[in-house]
Amino acid sequence: MQKVTCPTCNVEFDLPEGAKEGDQVTCPICGADLKLVIEDGKLTAETA
Ligand SMILES: [Zn+2]
Repeated sequence: MQKVTCPTCNVEFDLPEGAKEGDQVTCPICGADLKLVIEDGKLTAETA
């Protein structure tokens, strides 16, 4: 399972299975709307 760190609350959370670049996800901790991008070859969440 891939994990990303929420840029809003800095908590690491699990991505849904099959999550990929360009997907919109919601942080389960703070509820921020995030977009998945590839950064340094890794999936990273940024504020949408
Ligand atoms: Zn968050």
